[in-house]
Amino acid sequence: MAKLSIGDLTLEGQPVFVRVDFNVPIEKGKVTDATRIRATLPTIQHAKQSGAKLILASHLGRPKGQRNPKYSLQPVAAKLGELLNAPVRFTDDCVGGEVIQAVRRLPVGGVLLLENLRFHPEEEKNGETFSRQLAELADLYVNDAFGTAHRAHASTEGITHFVKGAAAGFLMERELNYLGRVLHHPDRPLVVILGGAKVSDKIGVIENLLKLADSILIGGAMAYTFLKSEGYEVGTSLVENDQLDLARSLRETARALGVQFILPMDHVVLDPSSGSTDPSIVATGAISPSTAGMDIGPATATRFSEIVAGARMVVWNGPMGLFEQKPFDQGTLSVARAVAGCGGITIVGGGDSVAALHQAGLGESMTHISTGGGATLEFLAGIELPGVAALTEKTE
Ligand code: AMP
Repeated sequence: MAKLSIGDLTLEGQPVFVRVDFNVPIEKGKVTDATRIRATLPTIQHAKQSGAKLILASHLGRPKGQRNPKYSLQPVAAKLGELLNAPVRFTDDCVGGEVIQAVRRLPVGGVLLLENLRFHPEEEKNGETFSRQLAELADLYVNDAFGTAHRAHASTEGITHFVKGAAAGFLMERELNYLGRVLHHPDRPLVVILGGAKVSDKIGVIENLLKLADSILIGGAMAYTFLKSEGYEVGTSLVENDQLDLARSLRETARALGVQFILPMDHVVLDPSSGSTDPSIVATGAISPSTAGMDIGPATATRFSEIVAGARMVVWNGPMGLFEQKPFDQGTLSVARAVAGCGGITIVGGGDSVAALHQAGLGESMTHISTGGGATLEFLAGIELPGVAALTEKTE
């Protein structure tokens, strides 16, 4: 069932409470990366132009339920004002009499940013009284903070029980449309590329996507857990020894389902014991006990790129190697180029893969870059996100 969208709401003259993700880096009182603020501008601009009175609320950092100036959203109000080229009002709390007054004074199209929700311990505890206090500010609620939708907090879940309607903002809607399409009607062939350090972080995603994907390509350190589980020597590569049985059973499930499940056939390795810092390339099965796999090798990169070239839909999460350190970025960059060049729908999530894409100047070539870390993984694992479940269903 589709969720109500901000586009379905009549906003003219109405106060609307918008949960945004303004959890941005701040240094010396200035926002240093406004990506998350920019991501929600379409929702804010639409509401402004529709004559809403906007009440924006977010968390910032982990103040642990205590008021702490270090985590104040005040610098975000200044940055947002700059980006909107319009005044942004600010209240130094998110509930209470002064906030209610500030909402009453808001003009049509006006924007008010509330102070950090997490200055109140009831936010993360999803406290009912606090949820009701937030809901007192507006009849209409919009959630555009996909990145926190996997948490049942007062501003993402509790509040929805006490408002007249709870809709998705445009950013949230985009996430639900693309990630939902992967789970409910994927374009085929669907190719899933997974990398990063740990299998354990992505078990749910692998289990769920095994049921849907045509091919699963595994790179990054997590490949060594799979290779070791099959009896290969992986030297001193990063391995999760407590996940070997699970890795074996995932491989068996893939076989039973007829899903192509591809592990690297070659590797860029380092041998610290040799005293040399020059990497070499070795095939799977030829990794010596003193070497560590740092990246997928060129033959693997070529094989992965060929499979991606034939995909109609690609989901990619996690780097193919220790990409922060040259030359171990090459496998990840090859995959980034292959995904960018594929004619299908391309969906990328996870901070490292997204960073690699930007490093390669390919961010614009993706169909969708997901903004949620944990929320994206939980969604792809098939878990219902409380912040999404709480939104009103569309009735037509
Ligand atoms: P994750 O948070 O699980 O997605 O893991 C991302 C991290 O895994 C990045 O910091 C990568 O540098 C690291 N990583 C990926 N492949 C390797 C590898 N072969 N050896 C060591 N670290 C790796």
